[in-house]
Amino acid sequence: MKRRGFICVLGRVASGFWPRRRTIVVAMAAIVLLPVEASDAGWLSDVFKSSSKQAKSPKQAKKHGKPSKHVASPKPATLAKRAASPKRHTVKLAALGPVDLSPAALKPVAPRCNPAKFRIVLDVGHTAVSEGAISARKVSEFVFNLRLAKRIEEKLKAEGFAETKLLLTEGKARRSLFKRVAAANNLPADLLLSIHHDSVPNKFLEDWEFEGKKSHFSDRFSGYSVFVSRSNPDFRTSLSFAELIAKEMKAQGLDYARQYSQAIMGRHQRPLLNKETGVYRYDELIVLRKTQMAAVLLEAGSIINRDEELKMSSPEHRDIISSGVTAAVKEFCEPRWGILGPL
Ligand SMILES: [Zn+2]
Repeated sequence: MKRRGFICVLGRVASGFWPRRRTIVVAMAAIVLLPVEASDAGWLSDVFKSSSKQAKSPKQAKKHGKPSKHVASPKPATLAKRAASPKRHTVKLAALGPVDLSPAALKPVAPRCNPAKFRIVLDVGHTAVSEGAISARKVSEFVFNLRLAKRIEEKLKAEGFAETKLLLTEGKARRSLFKRVAAANNLPADLLLSIHHDSVPNKFLEDWEFEGKKSHFSDRFSGYSVFVSRSNPDFRTSLSFAELIAKEMKAQGLDYARQYSQAIMGRHQRPLLNKETGVYRYDELIVLRKTQMAAVLLEAGSIINRDEELKMSSPEHRDIISSGVTAAVKEFCEPRWGILGPL
């Protein structure tokens, strides 16, 4: 089967980025030299990862040599205050309604951040010349990614996240994936969200014709999915953000893609970290494991599924997803109480 471009590459960062604050010459030289596993399918999962041999155990959560503000332990005063406060809290869960929880079931989550200064990078998956997956109607994934990322950017800025930036890259070489990572690291960003749309391994593809032209589809799978890498230096914060995104996707009435947890996916099967909301672990993804800030990859939906492609093409659906992402970022930045364990 014809090999289809699904390789993330980059050439340059879109203008308007924050000024570079540091140069990581040695680190990037090492990164660029890392081997990258060959891909034989036009499908995200193959392309974003490097050799699994490169995956390392989680490092201690640090941010540029300093403990991340999102993983800081609660101060003793906070702990004492909580211990002295036996009253119960009522937390309203989107899917479950009001739930009465004891203080022991609650935990303080990340400290507040200032939305006006919070640097979230929206990484537009793939490039104009290396377009990623091809939809059932032969539209490139890059087109979907860019449209959705722009809508998310608009909504975040409307909510006061003025420093939100699109990370647009160019080029064809796979090694440019590392430049994408370098761009985010050199800003430096506080949080990275990589925007993608899903397809399937080639073995699931079926033939059809759209507007007189031969194409492929698979209506077998649908839904969003959220990925984190345990190899990210701030895995805990990455997971926290991933949980918020997935929870908000579900709250918007969306279903997650179940197939990644199934054996039928073979080497593309991934550990499912939250079976309620659809957070998966994918340690080898370069954009997640080589970024120095917390990072999450969102597969917004399947564009190889004919019905879902139509949905993903609609402004209304982009609004739904964008609203979910924006709510997740707001909650991430201004947390109140979190609930221990998976939601
Ligand atoms: Zn992709």
